[in-house]
Amino acid sequence: MIKEYSGIAPKGDILLIQKLCEKLEGKSFLHVNSTREGGGVAEILHRMIPLLQDLGINAKWEVINGDAKFYDFTKKTHNALQGNEEIFTKSMWDHHYEVNKANMKKLSLGADAVLIHDPQPAPLINFRSASSKKRNKVWIWRCHIDVANPASNVWTNMKKYVKNYDAAIFSVAKFCKSLPIDEFIVTPSIDPLSDKNIELSEQEINAVAEKYSIPRDKHILLQVSRFDKFKDPIGVINAYKIVKKYNDCRLILAGSPATDDPEGEAILNEVKNYAGNDPDIIIMLLPPDCHRDINAIQRMSDVILQKSIKEGFGLTVSEAMWKEKPVIGGAVGGIPLQIVHGVTGFVVHSVEGAAFRIRQYLNNPEMARRMGQRGKEYVRNNFLLTRQIRDYLSLWYSLKNKGKNVIEL
Ligand code: UDP
Repeated sequence: MIKEYSGIAPKGDILLIQKLCEKLEGKSFLHVNSTREGGGVAEILHRMIPLLQDLGINAKWEVINGDAKFYDFTKKTHNALQGNEEIFTKSMWDHHYEVNKANMKKLSLGADAVLIHDPQPAPLINFRSASSKKRNKVWIWRCHIDVANPASNVWTNMKKYVKNYDAAIFSVAKFCKSLPIDEFIVTPSIDPLSDKNIELSEQEINAVAEKYSIPRDKHILLQVSRFDKFKDPIGVINAYKIVKKYNDCRLILAGSPATDDPEGEAILNEVKNYAGNDPDIIIMLLPPDCHRDINAIQRMSDVILQKSIKEGFGLTVSEAMWKEKPVIGGAVGGIPLQIVHGVTGFVVHSVEGAAFRIRQYLNNPEMARRMGQRGKEYVRNNFLLTRQIRDYLSLWYSLKNKGKNVIEL
């Protein structure tokens, strides 16, 4: 399977992965998160686990489960880590811990490397077996959230767990925290061979347009996102409304529910109300697994937005760039890592800024095309799955060899 990436992903990444796998062959690498469907973490794990297995790593993926109270709390922590003031009580944190304790009894956590994703399963570290540390096994906490400016107290509570890991991974340098453990920066990635990103024929794109009754007689603006306030769907509608005064176009807001996101429905209703009865605003609630359809919708669009006001990384930006689409993203979190302003897209700070850049693209298709092409190459060199696997294996191997100045492969 890794061979299929040859000619698509950078050769150096593939070679390094192969070398690292010679060293780590047969070892177990467990990932734990809180949902199998919805959002970027699940998106990546669905692709990364089988590829790691094919490379000879015993990769496993476990998902923790909780009750509604648990998901309400973890969504609150997510929001607070991204800067919202939320009210937390001791009993909420206790419940978070107890749910993790109950999960620990059901999950098999023994592995040579354990990568725990995000705050939901963070307390699992407290149940690490005593022998795990002695036997040079590594436990890493991986944060996918924009934690540049968390609300007061939430990080203090999270840190109680995070400091017990061997290392922490953040997506962007400015998310790093003061911690007594090693910290690494690893950006997320997209899989060029997945249903979400694979090349599609014009015929298939047309069929998807027909299936969802999307007319193609006007320019299409698109944002694909969970219905989450930090993705700013209302801001996208406002930008579209400004553009619409000058350029006839249609807006698609496509999203699907995530099992660990209890706020999605309320935000979706708010967005529907705000859109009113404008026939050129299409709001699509899609099943979580219709990756090929989303691929087609991205490919039929003229401008793709990710106008977030907080964003861990924003995989949808790289997905759009890989399809050579002109992109516009909020200047937050991981988005400016992907969008080199004026080169591979535009980053914006306001609704008006977004509207201005949409019009610039629509009025200058040749410029939009060139920026789209550069975007694809930028993603090829920086944000493909192979690069992320390279980074995970490298940091695992370096943690195993901690203390050595030079690690030979
Ligand atoms: N996504 C999807 N269907 C939707 C909405 C989003 O498949 O209706 C995918 C999207 O294509 C991307 C991921 O979910 O791969 C979202 O990742 P991102 O990093 O953009 O945001 P997150 O949801 O993790 O905050």
